[in-house]
Formats: sequence, structure tokens, C-alpha cells
Amino acid sequence: MKTSLAIPVEKTASSRLPQTDFSNLVFGKSISDHMFVADYINGEWTDFKIEPYAPLMLSPANATLHYGQSIFEGLKAYKNDQGEILVFRADANWSRMNESAERMCMPSIPEEIFMEGMMQLLELDKAWVPSGKGSSLYIRPFMFAMDDYIGVKPSEKYKFIIFTCPVGNYYSKPVSVKVETVFTRANEGGTGAAKTAGNYAASLYPARKAQKDGYDQLLWTDGKSHSKIEESGTMNVMFKINGKIITAPIDSGTILKGITRNSVIQLAKDWNQELEERFLTVSELETALKEGTLEEAFGTGTAATIAHIERINVNGKDYSLPSISSNSFSKKVLAELDGIKYGSIKDPHNWIIKV
Ligand SMILES: *Cc1c(COP(=O)(O)O)cnc(C)c1O
Repeated sequence: MKTSLAIPVEKTASSRLPQTDFSNLVFGKSISDHMFVADYINGEWTDFKIEPYAPLMLSPANATLHYGQSIFEGLKAYKNDQGEILVFRADANWSRMNESAERMCMPSIPEEIFMEGMMQLLELDKAWVPSGKGSSLYIRPFMFAMDDYIGVKPSEKYKFIIFTCPVGNYYSKPVSVKVETVFTRANEGGTGAAKTAGNYAASLYPARKAQKDGYDQLLWTDGKSHSKIEESGTMNVMFKINGKIITAPIDSGTILKGITRNSVIQLAKDWNQELEERFLTVSELETALKEGTLEEAFGTGTAATIAHIERINVNGKDYSLPSISSNSFSKKVLAELDGIKYGSIKDPHNWIIKV
């Protein structure tokens, strides 16, 4: 990608690369040397820079800390066999970030700042992109309020930062999930479609309860009737029943518009695989599990890509899913997405941007 935005760079005096064990990457623990920072002051984005990754100085009255005006994105860069760095669908993350910003009364971030900041950061820290199947560089752009003011109102100042983390596989084995029918992640009219901090804070308590009972994640249901499956913690979910894939629609405003979800839907279209965007009810799911017509269930998200589900708890009862065969849709779609991301197969939808 050609770069035009002039971004001053302050390089780290001592890279943490030598101390990083690339053969044993724990998701989100290692952070690369540099970060991109921009400030929103007096109605405009200014003071772009790339500097060593370091703690921030914040006022105790910082509005984010109290009222949670904070949004984020997550995307990945991959290394191909030639050692080039490929970024997957960054334009979609940029536009989704601006949708989150609007819902949270935050300023939008111009495409040039998002893209150039990210690309120039990736160029500088390209040695941090791991090679090898399943490994990638997780990119975390985020924006938060910077006013030092203890009243509830939209902040006037904001900070936008991008940092990156080398990561391995998020879930290395199939996951167990529980259908949640007491707690709620999102309600119509709420913030479920925004990638905003508070959604995740509110999900911790029910998720921890489920983890104590031996489940990796929850399957959230709608907040009104708890009868319709919505999504999982940081993944959208898809079910294949009687040859047809079913995934929740995204127009309710309660579901995060996953880019992996969108990519899987596109591939299903390309392959003439039947797919319905509609709510699967809990009772339909229960029936399919009882009758053995649920062929596959999987989560879709940037961190996990495709997470196979092996066990589902519905209404207090555990059901095991059939093991994933090599010709299953989820295996095929994972292989296709990996092929595109690592540059080993054609990219027919122009999803890849080269650094
Ligand atoms: C980020 C996220 C997803 C997945 O979105 P991708 O763009 O595919 O990574 C799904 N659900 C929630 C709640 C999320 O935060």
C-alpha cells in the first residue's frame, strides 16, 4: 500500500523481540514494540505519531474510566510464504469502528488515519508478525474519551491508538457452550451492535458462571423472551441443520456485525451452500440436538476464525455434537479463509491488503 500521511516515528531503544517466545504465544499477552497514537482535540484529529508501546498518563477524572465511552476493533495480519504481510478486510473494520463511534457519541475516524496509521505501524513492526499456520499478528485499534470531567456527557477530547500482538490459535480445540436464558448481552435499542467496552464488562459475570460449570462460552439469547439464539462472547454463531446453515440476522441491533460472519456468508453463496439469516429458536436447537439433525455448530470471529462447537447445554442438558468430518462445511470454510489470509489461494473478493 502506498503511504502518504506523514507520521513522525520514535523508535524503541530496546526491542522486546528477543525476549518473546514465538513458539508459545498466549493470546493477548505479548505486545509488539510500537503503537500508533492520534488525538482528537478542538473537533479534529491531530498529533499523529508512532512511538514505543508504553503506559499512558490519565487523569483520575478521565471520562472513559467512569462512563465507558470506549470502542475497539480487532483484525489480523498474516505472513505469506514470501514473507510479505497481508491484512484481512481492514476497510470493513474501519467502517464498523465508525458505526460504533456514532452509537457511542464519539467522533468518526477518517479512513486515511486508520489505514495509514495501521500500515505504517505494521511496516515498522513487521518482524513481530509470526509465521506458521494458525499464527498471526492481532491488531487492536481503539478509541476512548479523554475529557477530565466528572459529569455524564459526551467527551470533547478522544485518543485513538493502534497496537499489535503476535498470537497463536485462540481456541486450539473444539469448544463447549451453554445456552444462556437468564442473563442478557444486548437488548433492542441498546448497544449490542457496537464494539464498545461496557458490553464485555456486562458479559463477564454470566460467562464466569458458565466457565465454573465447565463451558468455554455462552450462547446468548434475546433479552425479551430468551427464546432466540443471538451470538456468543466474541463470535457470531452458525448452525447446520439438515444441510442448511442458519445464523442470526444483524438488523436487530443486538448482534455484532462480524466480518468473519460476513466472509463465511459470502463463501457459502459462492459455493451454493444454502444459508438462512434468521433466528434459530432454542426449542428448534433442542429438537435438532435430540433428533440428531444438527450436523455442525461453530463460532465465527477474528480471534478464533472458526471455532468448532462440540457440546451444547440447552435447558440444563448437555448434548454432544457429531465429530467434525473432513468434508464438513466448517472445515472447508476454515481452510478457504486461511488460504486467502495466508495468501496461498486466490482472493476473489479483494479481502487482502498488502502492507
Ligand atoms: C468482535 C465480535 C464478533 C466477531 O466479529 P469479527 O469481525 O468476525 O471479528 C462477534 N461478536 C462479538 C460480540 C464481537 O465482539
